[in-house]
Amino acid sequence: MSHFFPDTGATTPSTEMHIQTPHNRALLGAVLDYARDRMANDQPLDFPATPAELAARVPRTITPTGLGGPEALRIFEEILAPACISTDHPGYLSFIPTAATEAATMFDLAVAACSVYGGSWLEGAGAVHAENEVLRWLAAQVGLPAGAGGVFVQGGTIGNLSALVAARFNAQSTAARNGTPVPDRWAIACSREAHSSLRSAARVMDVDLLPLDPDPSGRLTGDILRSALDAQPDGGASVCAVVATAGTTNLGIIDDLAGIGELCRERDIWFHVDGAYGLAAILVPELAPLFAGAEYADSFIVDPHKWLFTPFDACALVYRDPRVAYRTHSQHAEYLDTLEEETVWNPSDYAIQLTRRARGLPLWFSLASYGTERYRLAIESTVMTARAVAKIIRETEHLELVCDPTLSIVAFSRLGWEAADYRDWSARLLTAGTGFVTPSSHHGKPILRFAIVNPRSTLDVLVPILDTLR
Ligand SMILES: *Cc1c(COP(=O)(O)O)cnc(C)c1O
Repeated sequence: MSHFFPDTGATTPSTEMHIQTPHNRALLGAVLDYARDRMANDQPLDFPATPAELAARVPRTITPTGLGGPEALRIFEEILAPACISTDHPGYLSFIPTAATEAATMFDLAVAACSVYGGSWLEGAGAVHAENEVLRWLAAQVGLPAGAGGVFVQGGTIGNLSALVAARFNAQSTAARNGTPVPDRWAIACSREAHSSLRSAARVMDVDLLPLDPDPSGRLTGDILRSALDAQPDGGASVCAVVATAGTTNLGIIDDLAGIGELCRERDIWFHVDGAYGLAAILVPELAPLFAGAEYADSFIVDPHKWLFTPFDACALVYRDPRVAYRTHSQHAEYLDTLEEETVWNPSDYAIQLTRRARGLPLWFSLASYGTERYRLAIESTVMTARAVAKIIRETEHLELVCDPTLSIVAFSRLGWEAADYRDWSARLLTAGTGFVTPSSHHGKPILRFAIVNPRSTLDVLVPILDTLR
């Protein structure tokens, strides 16, 4: 307390943002009320405004004296939020939607209130313990040994990049240890159908990407990989990692994880499984066999903000041997010395980051609240819905299925439609508030896809959308 303001509890201009003034308490009530209302199940889909519309409607909000909380909240609630598409709306079927559980969403609010620093054990032990229990549980589902571990990072893009940087570091140290020559340029092999984040990772790492043509069903197989490695001038020696996709973003196709994993073992190449979207389905016993071979992974990712029902943004990144990741990613500096103890688990040591939100806690709270069995049922229900929609499409004359859904993505086309027809239809659907289905493409031809990860995206939501395609 400054001696200029000796009264205990006095508010000064420099402290009033940080203490519980009647104003701030009232504002807290209003914000929590807003959050509560927004969590109700009947939110409109909404749609984006143009930059000009927003510029015209939103007054200047950043001013020396401020607008006051109630006014800032009003602007958000009445103008800004409605200009954001509700990704949890059951008619949101583009890209990969989100569908956070009630518990995960409410706990995301609590995580902010806790001010937990999730980067180190010293500061965040309790949170790190809980996050690690979730990561160990995920690792066990995939079949990794007990020593596996990792960290929740912002998203699959950072998860893939962090894993691949560890893979290259591992290849470099192995070469140094064995006295084998280090290639001029390292390469990462993956399917041509793999996610765009791998191209981004290769660019950031300044390594080559080796995109391989999958088999006619869209899967990268061990045999295709073997031929591709053998066809390299160096016999594949410069390939420091192979990425298999466990559920492609466009169609939900799962690569031949067993064939690729075994070959990587044989050739001593790091095997990374990108399961950002699809790997969650390993929780469903009927689907688990599709992921056979995932247990060979040196690292894998799965995004809880996709099919494990948590709010943005969280990616679970897990390593078979976290020590390699530690050596790759831990930061060293005078001011970090107290944290440098390999005997404790500092999550920041396992990815490209230092300060981190304990972003695994919403998933932890939701799993701890509801139990893993409900997760299995919720994932299963979306797969059942996808199959039911596929059946309807197969039986509809003017629609054509691209392929049977492997997981919960249904890709199809409207016979006789050109790219422009799809675009117009998609825009009309969004403006009407019925659904958000953006056109995609497959082998150069425009298609539509329903990505179903929301258990509330049931047939009574999807069939009316199909009906508009007549
Ligand atoms: C979504 C996705 C990613 C990228 O994840 P972000 O969380 O969006 O960064 C990577 N790989 C696959 C297969 C994905 O579906």
